[in-house]
Amino acid sequence: MKDIKLATRLYVKEDLGDETVLGLGPQQAHFLRSVLRLKPGARLALFNGRDGEWLARLDALGKGWASLLLEEQSRPQTEEPGLTLLFAPVKRQRIDWIAEKATEMGCTRLQPILTRRTIVERVNVQRLRTTVREAAEQSERISLPEVAEPAKLEHVLGDWPEDEPFLFADESGSGRPIDEVVNETRARALVIGPEGGFESQEQETIARHPAACAVGLGPRILRADTAVVAALAVMQALTGDWTSRPQFRNLQPR
Ligand code: SAM
Repeated sequence: MKDIKLATRLYVKEDLGDETVLGLGPQQAHFLRSVLRLKPGARLALFNGRDGEWLARLDALGKGWASLLLEEQSRPQTEEPGLTLLFAPVKRQRIDWIAEKATEMGCTRLQPILTRRTIVERVNVQRLRTTVREAAEQSERISLPEVAEPAKLEHVLGDWPEDEPFLFADESGSGRPIDEVVNETRARALVIGPEGGFESQEQETIARHPAACAVGLGPRILRADTAVVAALAVMQALTGDWTSRPQFRNLQPR
């Protein structure tokens, strides 16, 4: 495992392996040439979610194209522990922020859920997928989270397995403190409601699901985006991948 830190990381769809020569499409080529102003010979890291992370050298680039020569694997592919965020879409900037932060926090699946008080009529799933890709590149992730198509709360709950506990962030105050529930259930999924909150009938529908565990996030009402990050931090710190040191950094423990 190499401990080389490169500022530029790119997600690519192609297979990565020894001595592969890879061509980039117009968008990524434009990013390297016009935004980062890289020149041939520059080094960068690539990942595709299957073959680990690879170091590559920029071989040549022009307007709308670039070719890269793969040099060596810098990190093996490792599995990221599953972590699902089910969230009611909020307005543009805040939904992008949720997607970016959920990626940084290690979510492996983002499921927008449509509730009665969801104010956003159309979710731009393509834009969310771009946001999670950029956040995964920047945060040194080795895979991309999946962004599912929006679905109605009732449908998502209807398909949810009874033996897969999920946390339901319940601002009514009737949930147990989140740390207790995370330690007890080791739940790896979280439901966050819309800015206007869940309607009482929806709250009851969620609470009736055998896998639902209502949790509180303290005495204050948090904005939906704040609630996402706060709850994910507790889950990752108590039972997720914050409980061990990153393996790929190769550093001496302090
Ligand atoms: N309109 C609601 C109200 O005034 O009571 C607030 C909804 S809050 C902005 C959006 C979502 O964040 C909630 O549906 C819930 O999932 C979560 N949330 C916010 N504060 C919370 C808290 N203190 N405990 C649990 N969940 C919370």
